[in-house]
Amino acid sequence: MDFSLTEKEQKLAERAREFTRQYITPRAQELEKHDEFPKDIVQKAYEAGLMNLHIPVEAGGPGMSLLAETFVSEATGYGCAGMATSIMCNNLAFAPLVIGATIDQLKTYVKPLITGKEGKLGAFCLTERTAGSDAASVATKAVRDRDEYIINGVKCFITSAPVASLFTVFATTQPELKHKGISVFMVPKSKGVSMGHIENKVGQRNSVQSEVIFQDVRVPADCLVGKEGDGFKIAMKTLDKTRAGIAAIATGVAQRALDEAARFASVRHQFGHPIGEFQGIGFTLADMGARVAAARQLTRYAAWLADQGKDNSKDSAFAKFFASDAAMQNATDAVQIMGGYGYLNEWPAEKLLRDAKLLQIYEGTNQVQRVVASSAILKESKSLDTGFRVKYEGRDAPII
Ligand SMILES: Cc1cc2nc3c(=O)[nH]c(=O)nc-3n(C[C@H](O)[C@H](O)[C@H](O)COP(=O)(O)OP(=O)(O)OC[C@H]3O[C@@H](n4cnc5c(N)ncnc54)[C@H](O)[C@@H]3O)c2cc1C
Repeated sequence: MDFSLTEKEQKLAERAREFTRQYITPRAQELEKHDEFPKDIVQKAYEAGLMNLHIPVEAGGPGMSLLAETFVSEATGYGCAGMATSIMCNNLAFAPLVIGATIDQLKTYVKPLITGKEGKLGAFCLTERTAGSDAASVATKAVRDRDEYIINGVKCFITSAPVASLFTVFATTQPELKHKGISVFMVPKSKGVSMGHIENKVGQRNSVQSEVIFQDVRVPADCLVGKEGDGFKIAMKTLDKTRAGIAAIATGVAQRALDEAARFASVRHQFGHPIGEFQGIGFTLADMGARVAAARQLTRYAAWLADQGKDNSKDSAFAKFFASDAAMQNATDAVQIMGGYGYLNEWPAEKLLRDAKLLQIYEGTNQVQRVVASSAILKESKSLDTGFRVKYEGRDAPII
């Protein structure tokens, strides 16, 4: 296992940290007060080469590793999880296409969006009101009509939808086959695509989500990614990859909570001492630091496995739930360490708390991650022999 970056990737990671210091951190609080999507910052991220890192070189992208992407997401997440989500949502939208589309399809539908003067955004459209964790229940339909498909349905919670130019849409082409009947389509913003309700959120207010309505939307048959019925498999492979990105944003949030709390604890005096000198505060800081370190290693390992072409399903689930739980716990601890100031919205901790909560919910809730991880553990255990035996009258116990 080797988490070292190439020279090009190291420069990218440094650029992401500098970008965060210059553009994200100073404006995060002000923008979220007005619920603004940070359009100019996303455009600057495009220009700084921080977006679409996984798109292959032949399709106009830089073809970077997932490991390198986690450095960028951790850096931007440190500045503001909402802005990191806005910057990273293209990875989620385009990942099914990188996984399942041909290079010619990527050149036709993705390259023009990411290589133009103004970077354009994509949106990943899986969730529906009656299909959340149970993504196999999507009811959006795609029906073949000669050399076109006609798409009808409503998606919800779709990140960046109101500002997107291309929608990656999961729709059923054969409802009776359930998950085996789901297909995935590239749907350019066109006649019949409209926005519904804009979601009003607790945190990550620097990202935007809305319902997307597809009404008799016609797309050429070559907008189908892979074959009919490949959609669910492609969605699961996508999430195995992109969850490392969420874990990286979460690591950034957990680190920021630690840094803000430690800074406060070293300057805030009570009873004649900096509060960090009290063991109750010091031990909390130590636990926060250990959580950050563990979250970072799990995240990098999940990304590294994917880069090696290895199955990372269990490890990306570990990384996602551990890192986002770490972010939530560290944000809660930071509020507590700052006392009354932690609860004021002029101070940084309360935003971390609100932003962290979403990391435990989107891209598969943390319960669902535990379902994924525990299924993998139980499957692996079938071929385990720990050597432990209970003997009954000289024979192995019947249950072992
Ligand atoms: C801000 C935001 C941005 C989002 N962005 C996108 C996006 O860009 N594209 C997209 O397609 N979706 C997006 N989503 C949707 C998100 O992925 C879903 O909200 C999430 O997968 C959970 O689905 P649900 O909200 O319908 O909850 P439900 O599936 O109804 O779950 C409700 C509760 O039941 C639990 N639960 C469900 N099944 C199980 C189980 N088998 N075992 C144990 N517990 C279970 C869940 O963990 C949860 O606690 C976004 C959501 C939000 C809030």
